[in-house]
Amino acid sequence: MTASRVLVLNSGSSSLKYQLLDMADRSRLAVGLVERIGEENSRLVHERLVDGPPPAAGDAKRETLGPIADHRAALEAVAAELAADGTGLDSPELAAIGHRVVHGGTKFTRPTVIDDEVLAEIRALIPLAPLHNPANVTGIEVARSLRADLPQVAVFDTAFHSTMPEHAARYAIDAATAEKYSVRRYGFHGTSHAYVSRAAAALLGRAPEDVNVIVLHLGNGASASAVRGGVCVETSMGLTPLEGLVMGTRSGDLDPAVVFHLARVGGLSVDEIDSLLNKKSGLLGMCGDNDMREVMRRAGEGDEAAAVAFAAYVHRLKKYIGAYTAVLGRVDAVVFTAGVGENAHQVREAAVEGLAGLGLVLDPQANAVRSARPRLISAEGARVAVAVVPTDEELEIAAQAYELVTR
Ligand code: AMP
Repeated sequence: MTASRVLVLNSGSSSLKYQLLDMADRSRLAVGLVERIGEENSRLVHERLVDGPPPAAGDAKRETLGPIADHRAALEAVAAELAADGTGLDSPELAAIGHRVVHGGTKFTRPTVIDDEVLAEIRALIPLAPLHNPANVTGIEVARSLRADLPQVAVFDTAFHSTMPEHAARYAIDAATAEKYSVRRYGFHGTSHAYVSRAAAALLGRAPEDVNVIVLHLGNGASASAVRGGVCVETSMGLTPLEGLVMGTRSGDLDPAVVFHLARVGGLSVDEIDSLLNKKSGLLGMCGDNDMREVMRRAGEGDEAAAVAFAAYVHRLKKYIGAYTAVLGRVDAVVFTAGVGENAHQVREAAVEGLAGLGLVLDPQANAVRSARPRLISAEGARVAVAVVPTDEELEIAAQAYELVTR
């Protein structure tokens, strides 16, 4: 039997998300999540997706409540769930474990099989991603300790953006200081931008090399990218995921002097400003809600703060569509993805409104359709296609990991 399954792990500071995929037919066998790791009320939700008779463990969807002390205990619990479905970590069908790693710095520009040296290098990148890389490292350590013999592959959120030209990746600051502290634009959500830009080309019936695409990944975090012929040439996130679009809880772009002002005049510490801009800004900061559904509901009821937050979100999006049109010169498609991009037709409509001069015109009926499939929503004859393409970061991580270990 050829091993064709990949377990994808996405380790957060107090969570572990996972999916088991079979790359023989790109099907999903199981999905799940452990949350509140380290607390008394941890929760594991496991869902078996394969067809067939129920396994010994019973229901296809199981929820387990109770303390899970750390990531090791979390992965052991996940392994037990998978084993109960007959597809445990010791299964000979498992070809690899794919790990989402947020920051790869300038070092990692492609998926990489993890050995001690690679792990040390991912650890060394922690100062660039203090909120994310530590949990990614823990996830890798635990998985390696459970299956030392199995290839473990790191897939980096920054990798797809490593092709940005130097003039797009550099901040216009003192070159020696930038070099010394690794201050440059890295970009994030790269796995999603890679997957969606390729899927958009397929939707247009063209090869990725032949199309220029603007991808708008609008989830709780949000980023835009300009992809020329399959290669990323610009993206909106920078040194960290704080730059760019207005997000659920992050400010996106602002004058860096806001930071000095808040420190000098407001007396806020660096950590307080970090928390303010990352966790209490964006839609949440402007109107008290970070969920776009709530923001739109309130705006629809005449709530002024929610209406301004929605308008600011859309205004920033328009600026990036315009800027990336200029960067690319010729745009074949603008593509919406992730929670907001896939579901909020109002955001898509407002972002594209008034951009007929750039070749963007929506078909209102197509835009209003809810679907889990990639689809075109632009008007017949519009110069630039507008599309909705559901993202699938786990499938992309599994595909990249599998490709690497079976090459
Ligand atoms: P993600 O990070 O891709 O999971 O996206 C999460 C965000 O998507 C949530 O915070 C919501 O703001 C947004 N979202 C999810 N479903 C909808 C919906 N039906 N309409 C508008 N926004 C949605």
